[in-house]
Amino acid sequence: LIEVEMLNKQFGDQRVLEDVSFSVRQGECLGIIGPNGSGKSTLLKLLSGVESLSTGRIELAGTLIEQHSRKELAKWLAVLQQESLPPIGFTVREVIEMGRFPFQNWLGEEKEEFEPLIESILKKMGLTHLSDRHLDHLSGGERQRVALGKTMAQQPRLLMLDEPTTYLDIGHQVHLMDQIREWQLEDGLTVIAVMHDLNLAALYCDRLLMLNKGRVVEIGTPEEIIRASLIERVYGIAPVVM
Ligand code: ATP
Ligand code: MG
Repeated sequence: LIEVEMLNKQFGDQRVLEDVSFSVRQGECLGIIGPNGSGKSTLLKLLSGVESLSTGRIELAGTLIEQHSRKELAKWLAVLQQESLPPIGFTVREVIEMGRFPFQNWLGEEKEEFEPLIESILKKMGLTHLSDRHLDHLSGGERQRVALGKTMAQQPRLLMLDEPTTYLDIGHQVHLMDQIREWQLEDGLTVIAVMHDLNLAALYCDRLLMLNKGRVVEIGTPEEIIRASLIERVYGIAPVVM
């Protein structure tokens, strides 16, 4: 579904990504791991067309990413950014409905048509009882679930997540990852997720891509990547709990 070839990204004279190549199959969950500042969020921004690349190529479904129009991209992919604070002053339901914005405004979808979808997302995210509550009055974890609900209302074929389990307690982390896996298995959703928690990454991702200083260290199954020697080399620590 996605082909990345010799991707390079520079901010001024800082090279943030160097010669990054990989591909993602439809229906797969690819985890991106690596230390702070290794270029993970930047990579997601390039993959979602938010930032432009310096050199290299990214193909989405056989077409160069920059050749997809914004509307086409909105039909293809949804992104949950790191620190994407949903706008204040809206209720939970209103924020999730915002995921339908491209369809309502560009494709003339009526509100009645997507109401059942919104209800099912509220239910799956455990937010039904909070649906008329204002965002300002939610905990960090509840907000994170609203943010994911909004991206799912877009019904993307490709979901990109930057640190989706931030702010979540362990129960909600597992619930959220289970939910994403269900979408993956039932709807053929393709997932690219930046993960800090290596245990969760190993549990839920089919393959892992390890970045360090903007370069791909290795890409492979969790068993191939999560090795004491590699963790020690990249993170500079001896793993205690694995
Ligand atoms: P973290 O784990 O902390 O989220 P990350 O792997 O997501 O880190 P990035 O956000 O991709 O890291 O940043 C990689 C490097 O690029 C950092 O050194 C950062 O300061 C730099 N950088 C990111 N965005 C910009 C920008 N818009 N302009 C200049 N430098 C940037
Ligand atoms: Mg980041």
